Amino acid sequence: MKRCPAARTSRRLTVLRLPKYPSCRTKAPNSIDFVEPSGFFVALDRTRDLLRGRETRNFSDCDVMTQSDRMIKIFDTTLRDGEQSPGASMNMAEKLEIAQALAELGVDIIEAGFPIASPGDFESVRQIAQSVRGVTICGLARCADKDIDRAWEALKSAPQARIHIFLATSAIHREFKLRMTTDEIVERAVAGVKRGASYCDDIEFSPEDACRTEHDFLCRVVEAAIDAGATTINIPDTVGYATPSEVFERITMLRNRVPNIDKAIISTHCHDDLGLAVANSLAAVHAGAGQIECTINGIGERAGNAALEEVVMALRTRQDFYHCTTRIETKRLVPTSRLLTKTTGLVVQRNKAIVGRNAFAHESGIHQDGMLKERTTYEIMVPEDVGVSKTDLVLGKHSGRAALADRARALGYTLSGEQLQQAFEQFKLLANKKKELYDGDIIALVQQEISGGSNREWTLVDYEVTSARNKTPHVRLTLKRGDTEKTETVEQGDGPIDAAFWAVERITGIEVVCKDFQVRSATLGRDAIGEVTVEIEHKGRSYRGIGASTDSVESTILAMLNAVNRIIAEKAYAETA
Ligand SMILES: [Zn+2]
Repeated sequence: MKRCPAARTSRRLTVLRLPKYPSCRTKAPNSIDFVEPSGFFVALDRTRDLLRGRETRNFSDCDVMTQSDRMIKIFDTTLRDGEQSPGASMNMAEKLEIAQALAELGVDIIEAGFPIASPGDFESVRQIAQSVRGVTICGLARCADKDIDRAWEALKSAPQARIHIFLATSAIHREFKLRMTTDEIVERAVAGVKRGASYCDDIEFSPEDACRTEHDFLCRVVEAAIDAGATTINIPDTVGYATPSEVFERITMLRNRVPNIDKAIISTHCHDDLGLAVANSLAAVHAGAGQIECTINGIGERAGNAALEEVVMALRTRQDFYHCTTRIETKRLVPTSRLLTKTTGLVVQRNKAIVGRNAFAHESGIHQDGMLKERTTYEIMVPEDVGVSKTDLVLGKHSGRAALADRARALGYTLSGEQLQQAFEQFKLLANKKKELYDGDIIALVQQEISGGSNREWTLVDYEVTSARNKTPHVRLTLKRGDTEKTETVEQGDGPIDAAFWAVERITGIEVVCKDFQVRSATLGRDAIGEVTVEIEHKGRSYRGIGASTDSVESTILAMLNAVNRIIAEKAYAETA
C-alpha cells in the first residue's frame, strides 16, 4: 500500500459502479464510487488507481488499494521533431514507409510534420493522412490562424486527425521571442485552440518551454486552453533542462491546481540535452501523464528526444512499478529502429539500450556462466521480445519471391508489389554473385528499392575507373534521367572518389561539397556488400545518400546519386508551391 499522490483532491475521482457490491451506496456523486459496509470508501481515480480510505469529504487520507494498468499513449514525432534534425531529412517515399512502419509498430499518434513549414512538409503530411490507417495523424501548427488552417488542409482526409498547436509561455520566450504580455498569450492560446477545435475535436496544446514557465501562469494558460477545447496538454521540456524530480513535481502541481485538468490528457515531450529525456518522460508518467512524445532511436533536435524503444521497454519491464502499459507491438522495435537507421543513415551507438548491437551481448565470463545456468540472472528482457532475430543467415539463389518478402517484413520493410518485383530481380543478380545472403544484404537491397524512385531522378548506366599510385585518376561515367543519357570523362581529383564526385557534378549540374563519407560492410565476408553513406552540402543545406553494391566504387556513385536526387526532389516541391 502506498500513499496516492492524487488523493489530496476529490475532483479527479470518477464514478465507478461495481455491481458485485450490492450494498454499495453512492455517497457523493462524482466523487466516491461506493462505500463498503465497514465504512471504507472505494473510488477509481483518473490514473485508474483504485483508492480505498476512511469515509471523508476530501480524501486526504486514503491508500491505493489495488492498481489496474493505465494505457499510456505513444505519440511518435520521428517524422516531425526527428526529421528536422540535421542530416535526418527524408524524401516522400521514405516518410510514407516510416509512417507505415510506425502504424504497424502500434503507436497511437504519428506527428507527420509541420505543414506550413514547406510545401514538401505539407505534401508528406497530406499523403500520410490519406494513406496510413489505424492511427491518429497529427500535424504541428504555431498558434496562428494561417498555420492552423494549413495543418487542417493537410490532415483532413485522415479518419482520425489531430492538430498540435504550440505557443511559448516562459518569461524568456515571452519577452525576447514573442514580445507579448501574459494576457496576450492567454488570449492567443484560446483563439488558436478554438480555431483548431472548429475543424476537429482532437486538439493538442503545447505551452512551449513549459518547464521554465512560472507555475501560476502555466496553470492559467493550461486551464484556458482546456476550456477552449484542448483535449491533450503537452508539457514540453523544450531545451532539455529539467530533472526527473522537477518534471514529477510540475505534473503533480498541474493535476492538483488546474480545476479542469481531468478533461485533458497530460503529455510529456522531453529533449535529451542532459541525457535525461527518457528519465524525465517516465517521471511524468509516474506523476500521472497519459501520453509520451518520443522518436525511434531518440533522433530529434540537438541531442534528440526521448527514445520510443526505451520508454516502452521501461514501462513494460517495470510494469510492477509504473502500472502502465502501451499498445506497442514490442517485437517490431528492432526492425523499426533498423528501418530508420537505413533510411536516415544515422547509426545508433553499439551500446544503445534496446536496439544497439551490443544491447543483448553478454561478453564477460561470469555473466555468460550465469546466463547458461539461468537466463534471468543477468537478463531483464528477452531479446526476442524486442525483435532481435536469432538467426542471421537466410536466403540463397534458390529462395523465392515469397521468402524475400517474408524476410524483408521481418526486418521492418513492407514492400508494394512493384517494389518487391524490382527488389527480387536485384536479389537474383546478387545471389548469382555471392552464395549466401545475410540480413544486411537484404536490408541494403530493399532499402535501395524504397529510396529509389521516379523518372525525375538520375540513375547509373555505366562507369569505368582507373587509378594508380602517382597518377591522376580517370573516371568515365554515364548517367540517365528520363530519356536523357549523358556521359562525362574526368581526369582530375585527389583519387577515384573525388574524380567520381566531379563527374556527377558535371552531368547533373548540381554543385556539392562533401561533408562526410563512410564505408561500412553490410555483412560478413570478403564478398560482403559495401555500403557507402555520404553527406553533402548544397546551398547551405545538408543531404544524405546511401548506396550499396559489392563494388565499393559503385556504392559511392550510387550514394552520390541518391543525395543529388534528394536535392532535385526538394527543388521540385519548392517549384510546385
Ligand atoms: Zn522537440
